[in-house]
Amino acid sequence: MDKYSLEVITAIEAAVQASELCQKIRKDLIGEESILKSDRSPVTIADYGSQAIVCKLIREKFPEDTIIAEEDAKELREPVRSNILEKVTHYVRAFIPTASSKDVCSWIDFSSDSITDRFWTIDPIDGTKGFLRSDQYAIALALVEKGVVILGILACPNLYADIHQPLGEKGCLFVALRGKFSIQMDFKGGSKQTLSVSKIKNPPEATMTESVEPDHADHLFHQRLAEKLNISKPSLRIDSQAKYGVVARGEASLYLRVPSPSDPGYKENIWDHAAGSIIAEEAGGKVTDILGRPLDFSCGIKMIKNHGILVSNGILHEVVLEALKI
Ligand code: AMP
Ligand code: MG
Repeated sequence: MDKYSLEVITAIEAAVQASELCQKIRKDLIGEESILKSDRSPVTIADYGSQAIVCKLIREKFPEDTIIAEEDAKELREPVRSNILEKVTHYVRAFIPTASSKDVCSWIDFSSDSITDRFWTIDPIDGTKGFLRSDQYAIALALVEKGVVILGILACPNLYADIHQPLGEKGCLFVALRGKFSIQMDFKGGSKQTLSVSKIKNPPEATMTESVEPDHADHLFHQRLAEKLNISKPSLRIDSQAKYGVVARGEASLYLRVPSPSDPGYKENIWDHAAGSIIAEEAGGKVTDILGRPLDFSCGIKMIKNHGILVSNGILHEVVLEALKI
């Protein structure tokens, strides 16, 4: 077996199971009128359930590895949350029939918060607001060794597979291994394709992607930058790290994330960028912060040495960094 084969197989299995759990919860508890609902319990149940499954599968195969994931089970263990815990356990049992509520809490709590030489970082549902809107979200897993992302997986259950058919079949699994490949496939491992970024050289031909949520990025600043670069195509607003996949497959040439004026000093979380960044890089793209610095996954949960994010097809990177300076 090749080096990292077991990591790749395990991470894919975990991401696929977690996304099936999330889709099931979405279907059962959100239905079609999601936008009108302010009840966040479906995302809470899915978040915990997804993390329980992923942590269990990773820990089983790699007992020595550190796991750094977004959730912990502290609140879930409180008696007032027993109703939620019961629901989480019910959904997890579809994948792990013997799971008890106690197991579920202990699997979630495999997660720790201190970086080691080799660790997994997990976002059980990236883009929770997209999930609640029945829009884009992702299950994100990455393996980091000595600060370098080695493996990244993004499962995007609601993302169309064919960029020429946005209304066509949905469900994309993005997988990248450092120095080896960046691919997209469906959830059964079919329709496999090697990803490569766009070849666009002239900024006016570029399409940009950005967050949907105005609190997560400075849309006005992005628009001004687009105007400066003579980019006239409307931005693709997409929740979650699916944006990295969209750049990796050449659908957009830029992903910009300038901190929103509502929180200008915001520091990104490692689980929001580790998986996505390797998927874009191994497809030929470039990923830095908005000052051109490489992303630093070695200093803790928060990326304190970075500010904002710029992802490009590589060719356009310098010209966008220059435009960002003024
Ligand atoms: P997106 O779907 O690209 O809008 O990003 C979703 C992620 O944004 C979530 O996983 C959060 O961790 C992160 N986030 C939360 N608050 C902020 C903020 N003020 N600025 C930037 N990102 C944020
Ligand atoms: Mg996230």
